[in-house]
Amino acid sequence: MPDDEAIIEADLTWLDGRFQAGVQVVVTGGIIAKVGRLGRAPTQRLSGRALLPGLVNAHSHAFQRGLRGRGETYPQGAGTFWTWREAMYALVRDLTPDEFRRHCRRAFHEMLRAGITTVGEFHYLHHADPVGRDYALDDVLVETAGEVGIRLVLIETAYRTGGFGEPLLEAQRRFDTHSTDGFLQQLDRLGRRLDDATQSLAIAAHSVRAVPAEEIVELHREAARRDVAFHMHLEEQRREVQAAWDHLGAPPMAWLLDHIRVDARCVAVHATHAEPDRLERWLRTGGRICLCPLTEANLGDGIADVARIAPRRGAMCVGSDCNTRIDLFEEIRWLEYTQRLHRQRRGVCIDTRSNPAARLLDAATIDGAEALGVAAGRIEPGRVADFCTLDLAHPILEGVSDDSLAAAIVFGATAECVRDVCVAGRWCEVRSA
Ligand SMILES: [Zn+2]
Repeated sequence: MPDDEAIIEADLTWLDGRFQAGVQVVVTGGIIAKVGRLGRAPTQRLSGRALLPGLVNAHSHAFQRGLRGRGETYPQGAGTFWTWREAMYALVRDLTPDEFRRHCRRAFHEMLRAGITTVGEFHYLHHADPVGRDYALDDVLVETAGEVGIRLVLIETAYRTGGFGEPLLEAQRRFDTHSTDGFLQQLDRLGRRLDDATQSLAIAAHSVRAVPAEEIVELHREAARRDVAFHMHLEEQRREVQAAWDHLGAPPMAWLLDHIRVDARCVAVHATHAEPDRLERWLRTGGRICLCPLTEANLGDGIADVARIAPRRGAMCVGSDCNTRIDLFEEIRWLEYTQRLHRQRRGVCIDTRSNPAARLLDAATIDGAEALGVAAGRIEPGRVADFCTLDLAHPILEGVSDDSLAAAIVFGATAECVRDVCVAGRWCEVRSA
């Protein structure tokens, strides 16, 4: 038996789309080695708990945790995504590196407490210097994730223009990545300083309005060459779709489909206003969609065509985006509930299993892991030993039968039901943190 081998057994383990009793999970070197009814004595018996893969938050801007509760008054009578953006820019304008670190630390701590073991950080606030080229905040982000102990996929994000062909606004200068070459040099520099066991890179172009067309193509080519995920905000707002018609002659998703080779590495964040035909094309190529229902609701973005996305295996992941609320159980619940309200029917987020709870838990685990290119999201040999446990004695889950537990979690649980989390084989006691 290797020195660092652990044999974990909870009352119930989420395996093959259902909770099962009597399952042992063997972990060595931070990786899952074996799973099943192995008949071995556990070295870590998790009584009164259910074991799940650690949740995967596929889209976050950690610093926006500092906006929580701000920008929620409407002296003009109503606000939009664009008025919210003004509040965000006001935060960015004077943000010091220490404040940035504090917001990130709070966000990452809160994520761990909510059972999130991997965060995909779509990171575009690069510079400490207001007119900067220092990329100092990239380092702060990496350090902070490491200190908190959350697995980080740093989705390094290119940002070049203040709109189609327009110069950056004052507040956007801290996002500026200047040139594709410089951006890739920074990516290489970051690659050398990451902790290989818990940190990795992906590439993003912020949006069609913030990166010129030819650079989007170059960035995607580079992501494919490096075999990392390629993310982009896409069709969140009707105004952006209209502007793309005006400047590119096509909506953003259609333009991308015609100019890059969309595949399973490509993740469109939001796709709120994607029309059925282009969304079908995107999904058929293997392209993925990251939905952020709480943020999309908060910003008044709209409701995506989730019924088209959910049946596709691997296509639907979720993110906490602006981090006004950090609770992936609530995110996946909203995915189903907004569709129920919109379509006046129940059971929209289903696949071949006819089971929304299983489909939605996949969105918060395996689909997110695949969208970020990390071997997390499922309890099976060869994957990283990232877990969360739920307290079965919590008042929210007390008295629920084993067969109903998945649905009780998806439709009833909150992050408060999470008892402990494990990243790369190391447990953190989040409830006492
Ligand atoms: Zn976002």
